[in-house]
Amino acid sequence: MRIPGRVWITIHRVQNRWRDALAVAAGYCNDRPQKTGIPGEGGGYRHWRCALKRRHEGLHRAGNYVWTDDGKTTYLPAPHGSGKEAWQPKKWNRNMTPTMRQSRLWRQWQAEQDRKRAAERRALGEAYS
Ligand SMILES: [Zn+2]
Repeated sequence: MRIPGRVWITIHRVQNRWRDALAVAAGYCNDRPQKTGIPGEGGGYRHWRCALKRRHEGLHRAGNYVWTDDGKTTYLPAPHGSGKEAWQPKKWNRNMTPTMRQSRLWRQWQAEQDRKRAAERRALGEAYS
C-alpha cells in the first residue's frame, strides 16, 4: 500500500512527539537548536535534541555539537572523546519533519518575504516611471 506524503508527515510528527515525551520522561534536557524553523534562527539540524540531563550547566549538546538557548550551534568535540555519551538512544532518532508550529511560522516568514519583494519592485517601478 502506498502511503501519501501528507500521511507520512503526520506519522513523523506523532513519532517525534512521542519520542520527545519519552526523552523528557527519561530526564533528558531535550532542547532543540531549531525552535521556530525560520531561516537564520537557530542552527544545526531540525532533528537534533539535547542529550544532556535536564537542568544541566552550560551549552546544550548533541554529539560533538553544542548550542546556546537561542540555537547558535558550534562544533565542539565531546569532552570524553567519542561523543557517544552525548546522544539520546538511537531508537529515538527524530524525523526531520517540522512541527506544525514550525511549518506555520515558515509559511508566514515566506509570505512576508514575498510582500517585501513586491514592495521593493513597486518602489523600483515608481523610481523609473
Ligand atoms: Zn540541554
